[in-house]
Amino acid sequence: MASESRQLHIFFFPFMARGHLIPTVDLAKLFAARGVKATFVTTPRPFILQNPLVCPGGCENIDSIVDSQEMVQNFFKATKMLQRPLEQLLQDFQPSCLVAGTFFPRATDIAAKFGILRLVFHGISFFFFFFFFFSYDSEPFVIPNFPGEIKLTRMQLPDFIKHEVETDFSKWLKEVMESADLRSDRVVVNSFYELKPAYAEHYKKVMGRKAWHIGPVSLCNKNAEDKAQRGKEASIDEHECLKWLGTKKPNSVIYICPGSIANFSDTQLMEIAMGLEASDQQFIWVVKKRKNEKEEEDWLPKGFEKRMEGKGLILRGWAPQVLILDHEAVGGFVTHCGWNSTLEGVTAGVPMVTWPLSVEQFYNEKLVTRVLKIGVDVGVRQWIRVVGDSIKRAVKRIMVEALGEMAKRAVEEGGSSYSDLNALIEELRSHCP
Ligand code: UDP
Repeated sequence: MASESRQLHIFFFPFMARGHLIPTVDLAKLFAARGVKATFVTTPRPFILQNPLVCPGGCENIDSIVDSQEMVQNFFKATKMLQRPLEQLLQDFQPSCLVAGTFFPRATDIAAKFGILRLVFHGISFFFFFFFFFSYDSEPFVIPNFPGEIKLTRMQLPDFIKHEVETDFSKWLKEVMESADLRSDRVVVNSFYELKPAYAEHYKKVMGRKAWHIGPVSLCNKNAEDKAQRGKEASIDEHECLKWLGTKKPNSVIYICPGSIANFSDTQLMEIAMGLEASDQQFIWVVKKRKNEKEEEDWLPKGFEKRMEGKGLILRGWAPQVLILDHEAVGGFVTHCGWNSTLEGVTAGVPMVTWPLSVEQFYNEKLVTRVLKIGVDVGVRQWIRVVGDSIKRAVKRIMVEALGEMAKRAVEEGGSSYSDLNALIEELRSHCP
């Protein structure tokens, strides 16, 4: 067959944030495991560093500048400068198609210029897209014609979604969304059909085409080493982490992590620490802070770590999240509801306490708590009180475990995601030059 005469070669070009880079690496691994040649394209460190006007001080990844709205917006704008080098690479390597992240609105046109397909891979939940293209008039409002009566308030929406004032950024974002979902040649999502079939069908109806469900992509990491090395070097050795968890009873530890970007204020951290101590709960707590030279840290009660020895583990920096969630000792996940974390929680079959901080995380929270009913949205302040006991009562553990099993079956041979990926590869083979 002519389609088999040339090996399919895919360029993967994710947005430069860990929440996008990590699943795209997994996606590239999945394609490579099916015999597709996968090339990962990302910024060499100096790229944005060399543009001090764009990001003073420089950065190559949005994670380090997220505290400044202005810098974040500049970062988004700076990605436009990647167009020329990307075109050069496409010219030089002539891949069969381009998988680009959501935030590259020009990617579809660039791919078309080279006569190849552009696939969009959403690092974020595709649940989000239903909300973006909808205008919100009442308060609180229910998303019309949407399965599962989702109620939100305008307060929970970021400004750029409310479409109240048009700014350069909101205009740009609209272009991004339209380009990603409405104009890209194929839409690939990190999810599995059985998670919410009604949404997959709704998407097809509203957008007039199918979204390819090929996840959860994190499941391509099968052994402890792969799981531990995902994303970034962890602040704890995988063996040490497993050893610690190994001393705990099943479902006795909660895992608290605000994702790869978000930071809590010192006051919030102090609240968490006090709540943990009062609840007598065993925990692994990820804090994006380095240990300082001082004996005591301002955000921890005096002597906290000493008193928590054996009971709780504070990981400063990066946790091997999937390794931890998959451990039988972990019985609850306090999550900021980033899409990857949400799906990783589902996959591990762990009930969640939701603590959304921004943007699409509020939608993902609704999915977890109202639609799938595998988590509780206890509000930022009350969560500690409920973590220890209510989560076990509020969430039908059996449902979470069943979803986790479904997720695993989906990526196994013959499963829905496995088959969707195969069908997508076949389709790409028949379309690609
Ligand atoms: N992650 C991790 N260790 C950490 C923090 C995050 O492995 O200490 C991973 C997590 O497993 C997930 C990703 O980073 O795959 C975070 O993506 P998500 O969409 O949940 O949130 P974001 O960081 O984009 O807000």
